Amino acid sequence: MSPETTIYEELGVPTVVNGAGTKTRIGGSRIRPAARDAMAAASDSFVRLSDLQARASERIAEVTGAETGYVTCGAAAGLTLAAAACLAGDDPARMAALPDTTGIPDEIVIPRTHRIGYDRAFRAAGARIVDVGTNDRRIGTGAGDVEPWELERAITEETVAVGYVAKPDLGPDLAAVVEVAHREDVPVIVDAAAELPPTTNLARFVETGADLVAFSGGKAIRGPQPTGILAGREAHISSVALQHLDMHATDPVWDPPTDLVDRSHIDGIPRQGIGRSMKVGKEELVGLLVALDEFIEEDHDARREEWAARSRRIAEAIGEQPGVDVEMRDDGLAVAPEVEITVDPAILGRSASDLVLALRRETPRVFVGADHVESGRFSVNPMCLSEDEATYLSERVLAQCSA
Ligand SMILES: *Cc1c(COP(=O)(O)O)cnc(C)c1O
Repeated sequence: MSPETTIYEELGVPTVVNGAGTKTRIGGSRIRPAARDAMAAASDSFVRLSDLQARASERIAEVTGAETGYVTCGAAAGLTLAAAACLAGDDPARMAALPDTTGIPDEIVIPRTHRIGYDRAFRAAGARIVDVGTNDRRIGTGAGDVEPWELERAITEETVAVGYVAKPDLGPDLAAVVEVAHREDVPVIVDAAAELPPTTNLARFVETGADLVAFSGGKAIRGPQPTGILAGREAHISSVALQHLDMHATDPVWDPPTDLVDRSHIDGIPRQGIGRSMKVGKEELVGLLVALDEFIEEDHDARREEWAARSRRIAEAIGEQPGVDVEMRDDGLAVAPEVEITVDPAILGRSASDLVLALRRETPRVFVGADHVESGRFSVNPMCLSEDEATYLSERVLAQCSA
């Protein structure tokens, strides 16, 4: 195993061979070495966090085409802060009250097919979720998507935002949602956490009219795990900054960067905001900026080819095993081409769940994609595997098949 595992050995914590992709619960992604070095360098001096966020804002504006941006503690915190900005605006009293929203509009309207576990992040700021439409599309009744008119009907005086999850095959169309929301003067918040690459997606949702867009910094960008990008409008990002930065400020000497926070709009200095518990350190901020630059420069076609070749190699190795059916899944929708393995328990003598659990209990733990394990399938994602680890993973799957 690589030298990086040593610290975990010292701690007596088993490492993971990651065939499940950029999953936070097993460590996300491998941080880029340049980002790691930049973090070490950043840790050596002091800097005013608001100055660093102001610089990050400029960079995020350049790469996303948004008015401005902010570095958050993961995409999930980005969603909480986006909701907080839509709830409180530039009112310090509202900022101080969140997540209590007594007496103020607090609804975020979401197409029902976009309800996911991560929308908890909106509620954390105090928002109430109003979901709209039916799930017919997924159930296969023949009915279509959630319709823009259904969203329009749900938008009332109580609405502060429309929430939307960006996924390649998930309707309704963002442009139609934006049109309806903007007609009612309501901003649209897009969760695009895992929608990179392609690099063009950095700008795509903003271009379509989204007001606030959240990306993960710790997935394909391969920045520090607890980072994310929130791209959006100046008024919202100013509110985000005020609810996130450390606000132990003394009025006569409070001098935040004017391109991040416009003091003239604010009626007093807000207290520590709801985002204060989602702190981003100078090291993480710098690490993310360096990783973002590298991500933009990367040849993503070549990277995808490398992932595809690794997946094919795994598929060929595992495909020899009787009792399993192996298929490459490369529909162009997923970020990386994956291997899908269907288990025939009658031949193998054990189910897909048994196999996946046994792999997880090995030392090192071997993690594969288990989303469809109850239908007798598991998958291998090549993004977080080295060549050696891919070989090791194939061997362990074969060994467990014959166990
Ligand atoms: C990963 C993910 C998140 C959370 O991102 P973090 O950067 O880990 O906070 C939110 N929404 C979706 C759709 C995701 O895939």
